[in-house]
Amino acid sequence: MAEVASSRHSKTGTFVGLAVICVAAGLAYFVWAGRIAGGKPVCEVCKRIIHTETSFRIVRPDGSMKAVCCPRCGLAAVIQSGGRVLEAVDFSSKKRIGAAEAIYLEGSDIMECCSETGFRSDEGAYQKMEYDRCMPSLLAFARPEDAETVRQKHGGQIISFEEARQSVVRQLKIQ
Ligand SMILES: [Zn+2]
Ligand SMILES: [Zn+2]
Repeated sequence: MAEVASSRHSKTGTFVGLAVICVAAGLAYFVWAGRIAGGKPVCEVCKRIIHTETSFRIVRPDGSMKAVCCPRCGLAAVIQSGGRVLEAVDFSSKKRIGAAEAIYLEGSDIMECCSETGFRSDEGAYQKMEYDRCMPSLLAFARPEDAETVRQKHGGQIISFEEARQSVVRQLKIQ
């Protein structure tokens, strides 16, 4: 009888121990995630860390300027909440360019803003996600020849700003 009681006690002890470990791991994760996000600017729209080479700037209806992770997030924010597009970053030169004057490469395998969400397999193979706000990838370029160079390596389709905007409109309607 005493044996049964003691084994029950040790089971409870194990359970409590596991629960404590889970809570501690959870807290550690939030501290870690918060520290990473705290050090770098995060996209207004999808809350991912902003990578300079794909970043995009918009002006909110109240006149404030906001940075987002990619042209797709920027266009989505403007289409949904108003305001206007401001600047994109030329993927080749890393310089800021007028967003409405840029040309875009859609659907290539370059996913700067999604690279930390682990949708690439260990072998580096492209894994299509069911749905992602930043997909298909949208990159901005100042010069068509630069877009073409990247397209030949990474695939996709070269489109105008207006076509990029229409693509995001279609995407938002699907949701
Ligand atoms: Zn984003
Ligand atoms: Zn993005």
